[in-house]
Amino acid sequence: MPELPEVETTCRGISPHIVGHKITQLKVRNPNLRWPVPDFLGQRIEGQSVLDVSRRGKYILIKVDGGQVMVHLGMSGSLRVVDQGKEVQKHDHVDFCFSDGKALRLTDPRRFGSVLWQPEGEHHELLYKLGPEPLSEEFNAAYLHACCKGRKAAIKQLIMDSKVVVGVGNIYATEALFSAAIDPRRAAGNISAERLEVFVKEIKKVLSVAIEQGGTTLKDFVGSDGKPGYFQQKLNAYGRKGEPCVNCLSPLTEVRLGQRSTVFCKQCQR
Ligand SMILES: [Zn+2]
Repeated sequence: MPELPEVETTCRGISPHIVGHKITQLKVRNPNLRWPVPDFLGQRIEGQSVLDVSRRGKYILIKVDGGQVMVHLGMSGSLRVVDQGKEVQKHDHVDFCFSDGKALRLTDPRRFGSVLWQPEGEHHELLYKLGPEPLSEEFNAAYLHACCKGRKAAIKQLIMDSKVVVGVGNIYATEALFSAAIDPRRAAGNISAERLEVFVKEIKKVLSVAIEQGGTTLKDFVGSDGKPGYFQQKLNAYGRKGEPCVNCLSPLTEVRLGQRSTVFCKQCQR
């Protein structure tokens, strides 16, 4: 599943190829994504130049005069810049065609992604309720401490709640909890301010490292075939059930928390 670093990398990868370029046509081959692609979208954006590409949470925002297109990659989506003539594959559902002969192509086998429209000056309910960005100054120890106060929810579930902070998915929550030596099952309200401060630092670190690594894959967003530029980083806990802890060598434990697999070290994480 594309997580925040992949979405950020996608933004950076496509931006130089589409900002300032004029959209000549929106081709929707299959509108049935997680929500239907609005049938008026083509009319709103055709003939307009892309003013900016940015990210909020896991939404990629393509700004034009009068509003922005909100693209979400869902479970399996990817965006690539291709020649318009490039043969269409089964899961290539949407093309944003540009005047230079290129197209921004959305591929999404599982169709949990979305392409929506937000008129300028209006709140979109999907964006409005999002918490702060994890790499912003707004997300800090004092803020997280206030969010956790009195909460009995497991810290891992709380940190994956996009109303608390956006974009800390299973991989990065698992890794940051490991690095901060916090038991993922621990009640959020029962963790000291000092430990939450370490946790915030580790969240920022694991995401920054992933984004930095993603930067090396930017060339893959244009032209080439195969998988888009998602990337693997060295993981200490996620996906390592039963394997030795990198600190104490005891086997890592797996539990389910809120339906999500959670791997941690019973010795190191308290
Ligand atoms: Zn350990």
